[in-house]
Order: sequence, then C-alpha cells, then structure tokens
Amino acid sequence: METPEFRLWAHKFADWMADYYENIEDLPVKSMVCPGEILSKLPELPPEGGESMSQLFEDFQSIILPGMTHWQSPNFFAYFPANGSLPSILAEMLTAAMGAQCMIWETSPAAAELEERVMDWLKVMTGLPSGWSGVIQDTASTATLAAILSAREKCGFFSSNETGLSQHQQLRVYCSTETHSSIDKAVKIAGIGRQNLVKVIIDKQFRMDSEALRSAIQSDIELGFKPCCVVATLGTTSSVSIDPLKEIAEVCKELGVWLHVDAAYAGSALLLPEFRWMIEGIDQVDSFVFNPHKWLFTNFDCSAYFVKDKESLIKTFEILPEYLKTGTRGLVNDYRDWGVPLGRRFRALKLWFVIRSYGVEGLKEAIRNHIEYACWFETQVAESLEFEIMATRHLSVVCFRFHPKHKDDQAELDRLNATLLEAINRSGKAYLTHTKLNGQYVMRMAIAQTRVKRENVQNTWELIKRIASEL
Ligand SMILES: *Cc1c(COP(=O)(O)O)cnc(C)c1O
Repeated sequence: METPEFRLWAHKFADWMADYYENIEDLPVKSMVCPGEILSKLPELPPEGGESMSQLFEDFQSIILPGMTHWQSPNFFAYFPANGSLPSILAEMLTAAMGAQCMIWETSPAAAELEERVMDWLKVMTGLPSGWSGVIQDTASTATLAAILSAREKCGFFSSNETGLSQHQQLRVYCSTETHSSIDKAVKIAGIGRQNLVKVIIDKQFRMDSEALRSAIQSDIELGFKPCCVVATLGTTSSVSIDPLKEIAEVCKELGVWLHVDAAYAGSALLLPEFRWMIEGIDQVDSFVFNPHKWLFTNFDCSAYFVKDKESLIKTFEILPEYLKTGTRGLVNDYRDWGVPLGRRFRALKLWFVIRSYGVEGLKEAIRNHIEYACWFETQVAESLEFEIMATRHLSVVCFRFHPKHKDDQAELDRLNATLLEAINRSGKAYLTHTKLNGQYVMRMAIAQTRVKRENVQNTWELIKRIASEL
C-alpha cells in the first residue's frame, strides 16, 4: 500500500470510528455469537496473494464486528470497564503511525521523558508521595508480578536472581481471601508457590483483618518461613472493599515486610480528595499499582506502577548485554530495567492526551458523576421491595440481587439471579456480570464507563425490573 491509498482509508476509518461512537448504543452490548461461530467464517489458510482493503474492511464489518462485545458502550456495566476516550484514541493513532519501540531512552527519548513526566503528574493527581518513581506497565498483573519479584529479591539480598531460590528460606506472601487472582498468578510465576500464598480472613465488610495478618506472619516466622510481601487491595474485584491500609502498614512496618497495594480500579478515585483516606498509611507502602485503563479514560492497556525505592525494582530486572549498552546510561530512565519486557509500547502519549484534554478538573468531574450515578442506583435497589443490596457500596459499583417476597431458599435465589442476569445480557441493552459474596450469587453494576450518562443507568434499572417481573 502506498500513502495515497493509506490516506483515503485513514479518512474512511476516521469516519467509521466517529459513526461507531455515535451509534454504539444500537449495538448489542455483549456479543451474541456462539463458540466457534467466528472461526467458521475465517478461511483455514492465509491468502497467497494480497487482498484489497475494501475486502478487508467489508469482512471486518460483517465477520468481526458481530463477534465483539462493546466495552465502550455506555450500557457496559460488567466487570470493571476497560475505558477509553476519544482523545486517547487519537493519541493511539499517532502511536501506531510512529510504531516506536520504547525500550530504552535512546530508542525514543521523548517517550521516556514524557513517561517520567506523566507519572509524576499522576502522583500529584492521586496524592502519592512525591519521592516515589512511576513506570507504565501493560497491566496490573504485570505490575504486581514486578512487586512480588522485587520483594523476593530484597528478601534474599538480591541473590536469588543469581542462585535460584533453593538456598533460601521458604518465602511467604499474604493477601486477603478477596484478593484478585493476579496475586496467585504472580506467586506461581515468582517461584514462591501458591501454597505459600497465605489468604488472610476478611471482616464483614470483606476487608483484610489486620490482626489476623499479624498473627499469620508471626506464626510463619516461628515456623521458620520468611515473610516476603503483603498485598493490600483498595477496591477488591468482587465488592470494591477497601483493605485498612493504615493498620496493614503498621503490621508490615513492625515485622519488616514489603507492602504492595493493588488499587487497579479504585486508584482513580484518589483524584478526589474525599477518597484520600484510602491511602492513609501510604508512607509505609513499598509499591502501588492502579489502572488508568480501568477508570481514567485511557485506552487499554495502561497500568501505572509506583515504587518507593526504584533501586529495588531496577536491581531486580536489569540485565545489560553488549548490544544494549549506551552512553546515556545512568543519566536517563531506561524503562526496560523497570519491568518484565524489553520492548515497550509508547503508552505515555495517550495518558498525556487524556490528562491534558480533560484537565484534572474534567477527570474529577467524570469520576464524581459515576459515583453519584452509583449512589442513585443503590438507593433504587435499597428502596425496592424486590431487590436488595448485598455489600456496602464503595465508589461506583453496586452489588445487589433480586429477592422476591417469600422466596428465601438460597439455592433458588442463586438460580433466579443467574437466570435474570442471563436475560438482561441477552436483551443486548446492557451488560452486567456477577460474583459470589458469602457464597451467594450477586449481580454487580459497575458504573464507570466513559460515556455512561444518568439515563443509561436509569434505563438499565427499568430494564432489570421489567425482566425480573417477567421471570
Ligand atoms: C482488574 C484487576 C486486576 C487485574 O488487572 P489487569 O490490568 O487486567 O491485570 C488486578 N487487581 C484488581 C483489584 C483488579 O480489579
């Protein structure tokens, strides 16, 4: 393809993108395809000769699009969102055009320095300590892996990277029973082993019990284990519970254990001063992650990882083959040493576009609106005779279930709610997902999509009530 044709298609695609957003509510939020349906429409062998862009675009629309779930629909209330925004998309277009690989400063100086600057902005915006350092990772899972690996190395005086783990005391990692599965994954990968991930009990609000944490660590020390890392969660995935950071931080300080904070979704709420209580105790924290791709309107993927002491991070990951040696080493940030991959996308650009385009006030207003819509939804549920709230609402997620009068059999309620959720999603008008709390099936209404308006939430509440009444 030559540039005249590229120009033509780029204009067409720009129109398609704008149309997509203008008409997104007409599409079923959750894709309705069956397993294998898309696969059956794709030829088993790649084409020998090149095909035309018009053929490609036609197939994109007829084959691919029906198989997509529309995460950017304002009626997307499932999981946590993977948000984007129009300024972010424009930045991604430029990023794709330059196709830069930003592994070290020299391979794209502006990418490295912009990353440093926007991460500093995020610190100011969220109230994280000014002396910390930030780096963009692809996902929270990767950032948490980096944290656990850094904690592991620090525990072993940075020797297990060289000698392996066999000569070391058995390491232990702690999190609550409500913690995200990425912690389990990280201890598996880090060679610590899932059996050495201690799941601390939670209180009635689904928060980690810090006294139980203290006893778990103390008894592990007595048994000859080496406590290595505690992972606290701000905004658990099921119910958005907020672990008591201050108390956990005190335990970690007293017992000398690395403290990592997973605030994947909830971290964005720190833009609002009224939620800064969540990070009371932050000075004692060693590492912290939150996802601008969840609730800060930045296209997937973009995960902001912060560390108190960047040397621990760099000592864990750095490796210096001859072909990567440069004259600027030590003067600049070479982010390849700050995480798992060598090659890195230019993710800072979209974050820069988003922060500048919205302005901090604009971002705060959008987040506040989501929380206000969630309050409204919570009130509707609480006042309804047929529905009930299943967990204290934090931020913009409401956990609730359908509970018609005189139906109190738990297994039956579980089935009824699963049927209701399925019917809501099949309507194409909204997409919600579920979790289990105290063993009970619970629907989650996560209100954090960039384009969601009050009326989307109102219409969805009407939809839920109508479908429930027809069951
Ligand atoms: C979403 C989520 C994660 C995982 O995020 P990825 O960026 O997809 O790895 C981790 N922890 C919590 C609390 C989450 O909500």
